[in-house]
Amino acid sequence: MIIQLRQLFDIIGESVDIDYSIDKDELRDIKAYTFASPIAVKGKIINRAGVVKLTYDCRAEFELECDRCLAKFVREYCYSFEHILVRSTESDEDMYVVCKDNVLDMNELAVSDLLLQLPTKILCKDDCKGLCFSCGHDLNQGECDCVKEK
Ligand SMILES: [Zn+2]
Ligand SMILES: [Zn+2]
Repeated sequence: MIIQLRQLFDIIGESVDIDYSIDKDELRDIKAYTFASPIAVKGKIINRAGVVKLTYDCRAEFELECDRCLAKFVREYCYSFEHILVRSTESDEDMYVVCKDNVLDMNELAVSDLLLQLPTKILCKDDCKGLCFSCGHDLNQGECDCVKEK
């Protein structure tokens, strides 16, 4: 979704609500993750005293595989983000998003924000016991018969 920002930049007090979702079809190019749902994006852009601020929530379900036991599962992640929108680079802070020609590519921003927030280590549960190194048994389902070396 492309958002036109000219009015938002020019008129103090101007605001726009954002409430839409990014289709799974549009996410096919992202090879590192499998989406189990569209990405829901909901938020607001407001010009307060000349500062244009975007705040939004991003919610999506992913098909994941546990790093320890390889179990497949679907998990929903939801994060909140905040950015200051500017027309040209005034600072290289992460919080600033440069909107060239007064437009914001909301899809691009939401996808990159979301993917950066995802945990690097994916576990089916915090205390996942993983697989036995010798026999491959899923230790979440109980101990295996392998002799434990001391
Ligand atoms: Zn696991
Ligand atoms: Zn074993």
